[in-house]
Amino acid sequence: MAEFSIIEEFCHGIGPDHAETKLGIGDDAAIIAVPAGMELAISADTMVSGVHFFADVNPAKLAHKILAVNLSDMAAMGAEPKWATLVLTIPEFDTDWLGAFSDSLKLNATRFKLQIIGGDTTQGPLNLSITIMGLLPQGQALCRSGAMRGDDVYVSHNVGDAALGLAVLRGEARLDGVFRDSVVSALEAPEPRLTLGQSLLGVASACLDISDGLIGDLGHICQQSRVSIDIDAGLIPLSDAYLQYLANGGNLDLALSGGDDYELAFTASSNRRDEIARIAEQLGISLTRVGSVVTKRQEAVSVSLEGVEYQLPTSFEHFS
Ligand code: ADP
Ligand code: MG
Repeated sequence: MAEFSIIEEFCHGIGPDHAETKLGIGDDAAIIAVPAGMELAISADTMVSGVHFFADVNPAKLAHKILAVNLSDMAAMGAEPKWATLVLTIPEFDTDWLGAFSDSLKLNATRFKLQIIGGDTTQGPLNLSITIMGLLPQGQALCRSGAMRGDDVYVSHNVGDAALGLAVLRGEARLDGVFRDSVVSALEAPEPRLTLGQSLLGVASACLDISDGLIGDLGHICQQSRVSIDIDAGLIPLSDAYLQYLANGGNLDLALSGGDDYELAFTASSNRRDEIARIAEQLGISLTRVGSVVTKRQEAVSVSLEGVEYQLPTSFEHFS
């Protein structure tokens, strides 16, 4: 199958056709008209076979995951996702694989109102890259640089399940039945917190999504906001599956520094507590206060458990 027919068959008509799209797939570049008073938020993510997923991964799950990961970046900025470009590098033009990948992409792009407006297709070791674009009201983005001393630190839903899912798949941890299913699903199909991100505009002082682990990612807020953060590990929200893992002898390391959760971590002034409780109630998602922003000589995250410093394992980082 030629590259041209692959694009025709598998890459066209993915997601809704937005009014601001002046030109979609087919020309040398796509064209978007950014509405007055709005800004464009842009973010890219790559997933490489053998690094981010197993080579024999189910293509439908892969499509779901890469979209979710990109959408999560929009959520973390408080942006409304609108467009994406897709760079596909595939070892062979396997139409079954491409069909399953494309169907899942369509389903999820439609669900999240994301229009694929272009991309590139080449042959090579399996590699997927998406550049996503979204709209933000001018000057309102949720940046990492806005945390202030005295702010509360929150995390959405719960953390640790994705890393626990990976440990279970690797045979490093054991969970059965519904618990096993729920942690594997947290790993394979994270839920981007889009409505939450948009609801936090004007409320959160700093925000990011947790891709590399709660503590490591909060470290980015510390660096960019020039503050420190104290976390009480006893307050970290955990799922029933994670509690079962603890009961079986597990510890808090995966919840504190395991990656791939794609929950939002954010800071907000303590006089926003009622407002944040209202947002949590309206959206039906728990928003848990896990610590506070302080100032110390070192701009870093400290974790304590029952008043004693908690020693974290060093978290996974590429190129380290
Ligand atoms: P060019 O030679 O200019 O790179 P291509 O033949 O690669 O053009 O692509 C033709 C059109 O198809 C372009 O509009 C491009 O954005 C789009 N396209 C190519 N690959 C993909 C893909 N994987 N997903 C979505 N659109 C794609
Ligand atoms: Mg091209």
